[in-house]
Amino acid sequence: MSKLWMKIKQLKVLRSLSVRIFCIIMIVSTIPGWIMHYGIMERYMDNAINVRVNEVQTQVKILADHLITYNYLLDKDNGNEVVNAELSQLSNLYDGRVLIIDSDFEIIKDTYGISEGKMLISENVVKCFKGQGAGSRVIENYIEITVPLEGKVASQEEKKVVGVMQASVSMDTIMASYEYLESRAVIIQLLIIVITFGIALFLSRFLLKPFDKITEAINEVKSGFTDEEIHVTDYLETEEIGDAFNQLLGRMKVLDDSRQEFVSNVSHELKTPLTSMKVLADSLLAQEDVPAELYREFLTDIADEIDRENKIITDLLALVKMTRTSADMNVEPMDINAILELILKRLGPIAARANVKLVFESRRKVSAVIDEVKMTLAFSNLVENAIKYNVDGGWVKVILDADHQYFTVEISDSGIGIPQEEIEHIYERFYRVDKSHSREIGGTGLGLAITRNAVLMHRGTVTVTSEEGKGTTFTVKIPLTYIG
Ligand code: ADP
Repeated sequence: MSKLWMKIKQLKVLRSLSVRIFCIIMIVSTIPGWIMHYGIMERYMDNAINVRVNEVQTQVKILADHLITYNYLLDKDNGNEVVNAELSQLSNLYDGRVLIIDSDFEIIKDTYGISEGKMLISENVVKCFKGQGAGSRVIENYIEITVPLEGKVASQEEKKVVGVMQASVSMDTIMASYEYLESRAVIIQLLIIVITFGIALFLSRFLLKPFDKITEAINEVKSGFTDEEIHVTDYLETEEIGDAFNQLLGRMKVLDDSRQEFVSNVSHELKTPLTSMKVLADSLLAQEDVPAELYREFLTDIADEIDRENKIITDLLALVKMTRTSADMNVEPMDINAILELILKRLGPIAARANVKLVFESRRKVSAVIDEVKMTLAFSNLVENAIKYNVDGGWVKVILDADHQYFTVEISDSGIGIPQEEIEHIYERFYRVDKSHSREIGGTGLGLAITRNAVLMHRGTVTVTSEEGKGTTFTVKIPLTYIG
């Protein structure tokens, strides 16, 4: 049963809103009709039977009086002519049969003339003799009405039930009007269904028109005919969908712009070393009898430019890797102290060359679930920057700490600092505060973008405080356990 229900629910057509609206309108508008139909017909039947019972009972009671007046029960053999005529008139009128039963339960009169002399002991007859009054019941196509005949017996003063009169009247006329009404009701009902069908069909299409408009507009944007915003204001809902879509469109435009800017930045950055190399090579070729030292000097410059080109490409590849999804994360529990020590060891020679002192302060042993390659790259970039943008005889301090949820790595330096208004831009790709200085010391402007992406992939944060001429502090905060 539940499987069948699941199958029905999966049916594509039933998932359509217009089909649902159609069904709801059909159900809601036809059900009251059916209820009214059956309610009214039922009441009609009960009412018609009651009216008939009352009518016949009145007639029978009048006749009963006559019976008593003419002492009909005592004169069993011949009966009274007047009463007999009245009895047959009653049975003809209602297409029925009248029986008169005496106190011995013997039928003394039957308008059909077939049961006279027989006994009749039925529940209603007995009730009449017990003094419980008139009764009635429905048997198949007949209504049976019993009325007690009350008269004085001999010398006694009070009245006594001396016999019972039972009339069985046909329900044919009631049934005929019932059937007529029933057929009219069915016709009206069918008419309602046909009209509702038309209305439901129209409404289910008409009400959903605005949604078609939205789909059409989105499709136009999708197929590239236009990139205009969507405004379908027919419903609040369509307006909301339109707004959401427009916001998405806006985001996509921003992304597209930034992609284009990135591509042009990349081309520019990659072209710069090439231009330098071309100038160097051309100037060598333009001269004749160039001394060997000059060749050496120029070729050294060319080799430097090749190194630079190489570094830009390596950084770009690293950045691309960092902008992929979390599926590319290769996390495992790592000893953070060891990782930082290794980074500082590797950067030691560079620091020594720049005459910068490297200090590592570990406040506790930290183990965390991280992607080692990505995190190493992130910390290396920060420490390398701290060395690069330092002063002669300066220092770089790396402090590792943790609480029960996060570990923090603070990298501070005594360097040149970053101007306050530049801080918000430093994570942008290819952004450098002092382009020529950064170039001189081998910066590509990609380092902090790589760091930030690596940190975000670990669901961490990176913050910076800096004072020009005094130094900079980067603080990285990463959850101890990786949340995918
Ligand atoms: P780059 O390859 O030029 O170092 P980054 O993305 O690593 O590129 O850094 C962007 C810019 O932020 C740098 O050009 C530099 O101007 C500034 N910056 C980064 N770290 C520091 C620091 N520790 N001290 C001063 N300036 C810094």
